[in-house]
Amino acid sequence: MRAFNFCAGPAALPETVLKQAQAELLDYKGGGASVMELSHRSSAFVEVAEEAEKDLRELLGISDQYAVLFLQGGASMQFSMVPLNLAKEGAKVDYICTGAWSQKAIKEARKFADVNVAASTEQSGFSGVPARSEWQLNEDSAYLHITPNETIHGVEFLDPIDVDPRTVLVADLSSTLLSRPLDVDRYGLIYAGAQKNIGPAGLTLVIVRKDLLGRSERTLPAMLDYAVHAKADSMYNTPPTYSWYLAGLVFKWIKKQGGLKAMAELNARKADKLYRAIDESALYRNPVEASARSWMNVPFILENTDLEASFLTQAEERGLLNLKGHRSVGGMRASLYNAVPEEAVDALIEFMREFEQHNS
Ligand code: PMP
Repeated sequence: MRAFNFCAGPAALPETVLKQAQAELLDYKGGGASVMELSHRSSAFVEVAEEAEKDLRELLGISDQYAVLFLQGGASMQFSMVPLNLAKEGAKVDYICTGAWSQKAIKEARKFADVNVAASTEQSGFSGVPARSEWQLNEDSAYLHITPNETIHGVEFLDPIDVDPRTVLVADLSSTLLSRPLDVDRYGLIYAGAQKNIGPAGLTLVIVRKDLLGRSERTLPAMLDYAVHAKADSMYNTPPTYSWYLAGLVFKWIKKQGGLKAMAELNARKADKLYRAIDESALYRNPVEASARSWMNVPFILENTDLEASFLTQAEERGLLNLKGHRSVGGMRASLYNAVPEEAVDALIEFMREFEQHNS
């Protein structure tokens, strides 16, 4: 029996995707070999790769002005690649700091650019997003970096980011890309580690406006240069072929569910239910302001922390997995990505209510 998996990443994958992968594991389309065993330059794999890109472009409405790159190194590699590729030596760059992942991005960027933290919610323990009126943006920054969803703190920008259209907006969308429709044209660059809504770990998506390629005029190692990857259709070296294939299956699955609009409706419903259950209880509490509560990652604490261990053990016995919060903040966290079905959230809420009754 498959359990309900609330892991923040690597996260649940759609069961039908896993079954298809299983069916094709030994013999992909009658070719006598697994996708894992195909040369990335073979026509069979190039077809897999092109189809995945086409479906992703269709889902997100990505125009020809953007290159879509299938890279490795995780979102963490992008913390360095973004400044290296978009900021000239010593250039100013703006960052908004809303949690642990913004902090990491800022720490890396400081090695390569003159970072201005234009707004931060660190003082308030990352319990919300900074009001737009408080952002101190530089006029001449090479770009503005935001983390629209902070996976650890469960904080999300729920309103569109309101900046001058000429600003090169860069977003770490690791934990929200594909969870709802997105206006890609508002961004200069988007990146995301795959292991939440996209596919398995090992793949990192980058969507970058083509006019930004080569912008920093730096001499870069080839592997850190977006222009090199774009020119080679992400096959400058051996790409993560199996992760790319699985991501392609996930894109087809999302299309079959009704696309990103359907995902948004489902995800809003799941998050609403869980926040409502938390707010109605005396035992559980979510520390995030209502205006910035993440749809994807719902952290909550137990008012009586002595109950944490038994909460986790009993949840696991019921097939509700990976509810422990990130080690840096403690408490609990339920991640509700696309592939977490509504039944999983219903089962979690039922368990939480029963646990509260038994322990009050
Ligand atoms: N940014 C965000 C928002 C994340 O959630 C994560 C991973 N959880 C990362 C960056 C780092 O990603 P990776 O492990 O793929 O480097």
